Amino acid sequence: MPFLFRKEIKKLVFWLLLAAGVGWLVDYPLVATLIMALFFLGYYLKQLYSLLYWQAHSQEEPPEASGVWGEVFDNLYTYQRHQQDHQQRLRHILDRIQDSSQALKDGVVMIDARGELEWWNYAAEDLLGLRSPSDKGSPITHLLREPKFVDYFERKSYQEPLIMPSPIVEGRTLEYQVTLFGENDRLLLVRDFTRMQRLERMRQDFIANVSHELRTPLTVLSGYLETFSDHADTLPPKWQRGLTLMRQQSTRMEHLVEDLLTLSRLETSDLEVSVDPLNIEALLESIRQDALALSGNEHHITLDVDRQLRVYGSEKELRSAFSNLVYNAVKYTGPGTEIQVRWYHDRAGAHLEVVDAGPGIDPKHLSRLTERFYRVDQGRASSTGGTGLGLAIVKHVMLRHQGRLSINSEVGQGSCFTCHLPITRIHLVAPGETFDDD
Ligand code: ADP
Repeated sequence: MPFLFRKEIKKLVFWLLLAAGVGWLVDYPLVATLIMALFFLGYYLKQLYSLLYWQAHSQEEPPEASGVWGEVFDNLYTYQRHQQDHQQRLRHILDRIQDSSQALKDGVVMIDARGELEWWNYAAEDLLGLRSPSDKGSPITHLLREPKFVDYFERKSYQEPLIMPSPIVEGRTLEYQVTLFGENDRLLLVRDFTRMQRLERMRQDFIANVSHELRTPLTVLSGYLETFSDHADTLPPKWQRGLTLMRQQSTRMEHLVEDLLTLSRLETSDLEVSVDPLNIEALLESIRQDALALSGNEHHITLDVDRQLRVYGSEKELRSAFSNLVYNAVKYTGPGTEIQVRWYHDRAGAHLEVVDAGPGIDPKHLSRLTERFYRVDQGRASSTGGTGLGLAIVKHVMLRHQGRLSINSEVGQGSCFTCHLPITRIHLVAPGETFDDD
């Protein structure tokens, strides 16, 4: 029991006993005790009233009181001050966050769990045309109605940002990035992407133009080098070696230019999907023949193909992706190596797997293999004629088909490269069903 409470009880008992004693002297002990009890009741009621009045009128200072009541008032007062300080600090932090968000050049929009607008900064008004306060509480998908945005917003998987034309300014491109927080609340960040897009377009155009411009001089050089090679035996041995090296390097440059042009086409053009599902079996068989020619029949290449399994996609691009993987398996493994190519499907989609029992790749390289010009072994790459762009092309082709490339490898065991295509692209041939290319 708290000390003050015990003291108060003692005080009450003392006064009641005293009243009883005095009352006994005058023959009215009960009446005296009752009067004293009523006095205490009145005192407690008065203090209770003061407390409620103080609370109701939010006065600064608590009422004056002694004993247990004084203690109650002081404690309440301290608690109240503490809460007020705390609230003030929070309000200050909130104001600062809002001020700094207002100062941002990027748009910030807070959206609640129902998808309705809660708060946004000035930049969001400028970029998206939101109006304050009339748009508050409106569903974001009513204000940004573009199906691409609605789909992105409702999909709830926000790893990648969405890049789309501005809803209010023609020629302006915006990047939208949604982040989930709290209980299904969302923060939408919007930034002007026009300049970045222009720079990206300039970069793509530059690479495409340079590659294109290099094509003609390279063709002339390669043509003459080939003609000279036909008469190489009439040249001194020193020149013959130089000629061989020049031919090798010009072939490499031609491959490089071709790969750069392929990549820039993948970046700039729209995917041309076949009307009929593609016959991957025939495609793989022709890739196998080319790969065997590349290897000089030194490798064992086996095909394990699901004949019913076809996909909708770009034949040219899938040929480029699949052949890159099979040619790599030939280029980067020694003669006599087993290479298995498997085309199958499961509940996730269709898969093209190229497994080789070659030297494998150190795990530290795996995450960077699809970067442009990344090569594990520079020396060996130049001897195999690699450009370092092959896997970048495969990755791009997969992305354009909503698929992905996965790489598994272990040094000394071999490598496994798999192209995964989504289930939506699959077509399983029914018995008796035929297509034009059969
Ligand atoms: P490149 O056009 O030079 O072949 P890629 O992008 O296709 O470039 O491949 C990048 C690197 O990955 C290559 O330099 C090579 O070291 C490594 N690599 C690719 N495939 C294999 C494989 N099957 N086995 C071992 N290494 C491989």
